[in-house]
Amino acid sequence: MTASFHRFVAPGLIVLFALVWAALPARADGIKAVASIAPVHSLLAQVMEGAGRPRLLVPRGASPHAYALKPSAARALSEAQVVFWVGPGLERFLVKPLSALPRRVMVVELATAEGVKTRRFKDAGGGEGGTDPHVWLDPLNAAAMTRIMITVMANADPANAVLYRNNGAAVRARLVKLEAEISQTLEPVTGVPYLVFHDAFGYFEDRFGLHSAGAAAAAAERPPGAKRISALRRLIRTGKIPCVFTEPEFEPALARTLIEGTTARIGIIDPLGAGLTPGPGLYAKLMRGLARSLKGCLKDGGP
Ligand SMILES: [Zn+2]
Repeated sequence: MTASFHRFVAPGLIVLFALVWAALPARADGIKAVASIAPVHSLLAQVMEGAGRPRLLVPRGASPHAYALKPSAARALSEAQVVFWVGPGLERFLVKPLSALPRRVMVVELATAEGVKTRRFKDAGGGEGGTDPHVWLDPLNAAAMTRIMITVMANADPANAVLYRNNGAAVRARLVKLEAEISQTLEPVTGVPYLVFHDAFGYFEDRFGLHSAGAAAAAAERPPGAKRISALRRLIRTGKIPCVFTEPEFEPALARTLIEGTTARIGIIDPLGAGLTPGPGLYAKLMRGLARSLKGCLKDGGP
C-alpha cells in the first residue's frame, strides 16, 4: 500500500472507528492503548497523562529491527483498543500480529500518517529504495505524530477528549521549544563529518544541518564485512572524520576496529532511548542526549 493511500483513508477510518467506539460502554479501567517503541510510547504517555498509561511493546535495550514478540506483549496487543506503531519498515515483527487483530482494534501507522514527512535512505544496502523509518527523530514529525494521537485518542475515548487535546497542545508546544533548543546546541558542529553505525539519524541530521559521512552497516541487523571496514577506515583518515558513533545495542569492538590507527574518537548515540526509563519524559531526554553526544564528540573536530 502506498503512503498516499494511507493518508487518504486514515481520516475516514478515524471517523468510522469513532462511531463504533461511541456505541461501546465506557470501561472502568481506562482505555487500553499500546505503543511499539519507547519514543512513540513517550509521546503517547504525554498525551494520555491523567487518563491512563500506554503499554510499551519493545522493551528498553531491544532493537525493533530484530525483535520477536513476547507472550506478554502479544496478550497486551490482543487486549488493546488502540495500537500506535511506526510501520513495517521498522517493526517488521508486528506486521503479522497486527494483521491478525480483530477489526475493532484501531491500528495507527505513524510513518504514513498525515503531516509526517518521510525521507528516503541515501545509500541503503538494498540500493535505491526504502523509506527511512526513523521518523520520530525529527521533532516536527513528532509534533505531527502527536496531532494524530490526539485525534485518535479523543475519538477512542471521548470522555477524556478535552484532556487529550489539552495535553497534546502542551506536548506540541514543548516540541517547538525543544527543536529550537537543539538547533542552538548543535549550531557549532553543523558540517563536521562523522560516521554512524546504522543509518538511523537522517531525520535528525536533516532537521539540524548535521553531516554524516556514511553508515558502517548496510542494514541494522547486518554488521559490516572486512571489505567495508577497510573502506571505512580509509574514509576516516582521508575524510578527516573526528568521530565514529556507535549505538548501545552494537558491539563496541567493531567501532574500536574502525578507529584503530586513526585520530578518530568513539561516541555513543542512541535513537531509541535504550538507557532511559520509558515514560512521558523519555522523548525530550532522548533528543537532548543525541544532541549532547554529537556535540561532545564533534566540537573539537572539523575539516
Ligand atoms: Zn534503526
